[in-house]
Order: sequence, then C-alpha cells, then structure tokens
Amino acid sequence: MCGIVAYIGNKQAQTLLLEGLKRLEYRGYDSAGMATIEDGHVRVVRAVGRVSNLEDKLEDLGGLRGNLGMAHTRWATHGGVTEPNAHPHRDDKSGVCIIHNGIIENYAAIKTYLAEKGHKFTSDTDTEVLAMLIGELYEGDLEAAVQAALREVTGAYAIVVMCEKEPETLVCARKGSPLMVGVGNGEYIVASDGSAIVSHTTQAFHLDDYNVVKITRSGFHTSTIHNVPVNPKVVQLELELQEIELGGFSHFMQKEIFEQPKALRNCFRGRCDIDEGRVVLGGVSGFTKELIKARRVVLTAQGTALHAAMIGEYLIEDLAKIPAVAEYASEFRYRNPIIEDNTVVVAVSQSGETADTLAALREAKDRGALALGVVNVVGSSIARETDAGVYLRVGPEIGVASTKAFVGQVAVLTLVTLFLARRRYMSGDMCAQMMKSLQGVPEKIERILEQDSKIRQVTEKYIERENWLFLGRGYNYPTALEGALKLKEISYIHAEGMPAAEMKHGPIALINEGMPAVFIANRGRQYEKVISNIQEVRSRGGHVIVVATEGDENIKRVAEDVLYVPDIEEPLSPMLTVIPLQLMAYHAAVLRGHDVDKPRNLAKSVTVE
Ligand code: GLU
Repeated sequence: MCGIVAYIGNKQAQTLLLEGLKRLEYRGYDSAGMATIEDGHVRVVRAVGRVSNLEDKLEDLGGLRGNLGMAHTRWATHGGVTEPNAHPHRDDKSGVCIIHNGIIENYAAIKTYLAEKGHKFTSDTDTEVLAMLIGELYEGDLEAAVQAALREVTGAYAIVVMCEKEPETLVCARKGSPLMVGVGNGEYIVASDGSAIVSHTTQAFHLDDYNVVKITRSGFHTSTIHNVPVNPKVVQLELELQEIELGGFSHFMQKEIFEQPKALRNCFRGRCDIDEGRVVLGGVSGFTKELIKARRVVLTAQGTALHAAMIGEYLIEDLAKIPAVAEYASEFRYRNPIIEDNTVVVAVSQSGETADTLAALREAKDRGALALGVVNVVGSSIARETDAGVYLRVGPEIGVASTKAFVGQVAVLTLVTLFLARRRYMSGDMCAQMMKSLQGVPEKIERILEQDSKIRQVTEKYIERENWLFLGRGYNYPTALEGALKLKEISYIHAEGMPAAEMKHGPIALINEGMPAVFIANRGRQYEKVISNIQEVRSRGGHVIVVATEGDENIKRVAEDVLYVPDIEEPLSPMLTVIPLQLMAYHAAVLRGHDVDKPRNLAKSVTVE
C-alpha cells in the first residue's frame, strides 16, 4: 500500500533511496527499511516508525554501500508494526531479497507448503512467504523464479526483488498496486509513485498488471508472468518538482487548501466554451452518444471521493435529469449489482489506484456498463481501465487528508453534469450562465481563504471538545460528511456528519451542554428547515457554528459563530462551503499538536480491499 523505491546505476544507492523514501513519506506508513547489494552480499537495515529513524540507524551502522538497492515504507496488513515485519525480507537460503506493497491473499497455504519443506519464518508477513517462494523456485534465473512464483499467488502486489547470486539485476512486478520505472542515463529508479523519480528523470514507464521487468545497467526486459514479451511505452512524467515541495507552507495539507483556486482554474481551462454554451471534455467526447442515452448513472468511490460522488448524484439528477446514485465501491462490488442497459458507471478516485473502486469498476464493466473515470493521477489504473474519463488536473496531492482533489472531483462532476444536461434538457444560455458561475468559484474560494485566522480562532474555542456534529441538507449533506471526515482523519476528534433532518431521529440524544455542531446553512432551497434544526440543537445546549451566505445577518441570532462564504447557485455551493471545514480540520490538528501530513493509521492511496 505504501512506498517502494529501488535503484540500479552508478551512484551510491543509499542517498538516492533515502531521498526517494522521504518523497514517499506522505503516503502514510509505520516502518521503513532498505537493502543494498554490497560486495555480492545483501545487507538489510530496518526500523519501526519514521524514515528518520531508519536514517539514524543507517548512520549508526556506518551506512549501506552499493550501486543497487531497494527501500520501502510499510503500511502493515499482515503482522504488527515491528522491525522483523518491516521490509525488505530476505530468504537466507537463496539470497533473495524483496520489498512488497499489497497483500498476498493465499499466503497461508504457501506458508504451510514452504514450512513442510523446512523453511523457517522470521516475520508474520505475507511478504516473507513470497520471498521464500521465489527462493524455493530459483534455479539460476531470478526473472524466471519471480514469474513462476507470481503464477502461484493471488492478491495484490508491487514488488522489487534482488538476489545475491545475480548481484547486477533488479526484477520488479505488479498486479493491483502501482509501480513505475524511471529511465535515466545508465540508471533506473523504480518507484510506486512518480514523486520519488521526478528529481532524477522525467522519462518513465508504468508496469501493467501481471507484468515483470528485469533491469540491469545495460537495459530492461519486460514480459508477463507467463513469459510473453511486452513493450511498455516510455512517457514523459508530468510532475513538477515544485508541486511536490512545501514552498513556504507548514504542511502539504495547508498548501493544498490554499492552492485550490489555482487548481480549479487549471481544471476549468479549455473546458468551458461560454460563447457556445457548451462544456468541452475531450476525454469523454468519443462516447457522447452513449452518454446522452444513459438511463442511470452509478457513481462509485470510497472516503472523500465518495462524498464528491454523492454531490455528483445530486447534480446529475437535479440538472441532467438522469437517475443517479452514489455508492461505496466496496459494497457495490459484492452485492451482485443489477446493471441494466444504458447504465454509466463513474469511478471517482484521487489516485486512480483505490482497490475497492477499481474492483467495482471491473464488476460494472463485466456487466456491460459504460465506465467513466474521474481521477487525478494520469496513467493510473482506473484511468487506464475505463472507457473514457476526465482528469482533475489539480496537480499532485501529497496531504493524506484530501482537499484540493475533493474540490476538483466536485468541479469535474459538475462539468460532466453540464456536458450531459446541455445535450439533454438545458438551454445554451442556462449552461453558459452555470459555466460563468463555475469559473467564478476560484475567486470566491480566495475570499474564504482570507478568513483563515478567524476560522482558526473559532476552532480554538472548541478544541477541547471530543465529539462534534456536522449537519447539512441537500447538496450540502455530503459536505457535512466531508467536514466530519476531515476532522476525524487528522485531529482524531470524533465527529459525525449527517443530514440535518436525521438528527432528531436519534443522534439528538448525544447533544449535551457545549457540544459543537457545525451547520451548513447557506442560502438555498432548505434554508428555513436548516434554521429549525439549528434551534433544536441550541435548545439542548449545543454550540452552533454556522457556514452561512455573506450578507445573512439574521443567522447571527441563532449561532455562536458564523463563517461566511460568498453567494452562489446552490448546486455549486459545496465547493465553497467545504473550504471553512477543511481549514477547521487543519487548525484542529495543528492546535492539538498532530502531524497533519502523516496522520496515524492512514495511507494516502488505499490499494488493498
Ligand atoms: N502485506 C505486506 C505487509 O504487511 C505489505 C504491506 C504494504 O503494502 O506496505 O507487510
């Protein structure tokens, strides 16, 4: 799930590997490790906790030498967070050494088989089992041994393998977890994510599922696990170094919150033809006919992306008049879904690697749905497996708690909605009007960001509180869910989001003296109803914080604290109302002294089910 970086070339691998691990830190992890081949021998150093612990340990031990090596940040799935469970894992018998992201699902059966053959295990991981299986199958050709071993395993993996008996070779493979190979001048950098590659080379290729690549200093050879040759396409990495650096901000999350106006301008660029009253989406235009005929849209995602998908559900039904539903990908996939003719499935994911979403997408495609992707990472698995799609174009998101990708997902879903609506019921004038308002969103977000210090003050007032409620209706019900999720993710405060009307059906029992309740009460169809819900909380002693529309002075009579957002058409409002909630979560985490960019237990992209 987390980070892989490996190197073969003429430089000292350790320096490069450490730098790569630091670039991958944002993905969330619990331990780290490194191995190189030094004078024909594999040497491994591992440490629990931060990459800096590994760095200290390397220094104490005098460092690892060698021009070939691998490093890993682990997000434990099998076995506790301990040094013996950290990667790399080595099979002493064969000299095979491996790092792995993902899960080997049938590891227990393989472990029994290997134990019967006399193998002794030193960890509880599924990864060590794979190391030993490769070792067991090694007959003088590492690439062949890796292929043979991978034919026996089920699950998800991105792996890098080296072996003392072939000290000039790296073998890498993937299924379900991302892996790419940076092609430099006489050197190669393998990584789970372009951010560990881009400072060395911008030429890279992605591995496809079931592909294996053997790399030596003189070149590489790619095949499938069945040894059928494949020709990967080397492409230009579109990451800019400054996009993955802090540039004066304290945290990536903060940087990304403040980057949202710019990110949205990029997202809208070239996509809004106001004169013609049309949305231009190159990525889906080849499927216009099928899209217009859509009778049902299923949006599927997890986490923050699901909240964006829920807003998409409201947008598509309300403006494009097509029945729509947003669903957890993990539930959709396993509940034997019915896909009727003319169903469009939209997979929403920042990374494009979310395992649950990918699995749901495949299920829907198998059942005949047209598959669209709304993803940020170019060339990611979802992007490659969908029939058509729209990239967010908001730049790399490093902060584990998603902010600009959320707003980007909502923006893209709005564009997709207008694309559909205009070709079904919406007039050119109406569409042009909506696009103008959409293009005004970045400037309006800038105005909200100016209130940063006020939002911090309000957050500080309630910082000791352990339970919060987030409530909204209609388009801003998903925003309430997102506000609660942000707070949970990085400040570890318990928060619940729900439709404001739902509160009196049970959760109102939780409200006691001083409990903070954040209401999204911007002007819209259900404004009066939200005000009634606010009164219900007030009369039970709760503290009400309201996100309201600029100019709404009345609201001050019912709320302790008011955070204003500029007025906008209701369907576009979530892109504004979510901003104060992102900042509240950020400040709550900082005020509580948490590491905002490395929240406990979380990984940036969840590539296991
Ligand atoms: N399943 C492996 C483990 O628990 C790999 C986890 C990862 O992706 O970091 O060690």
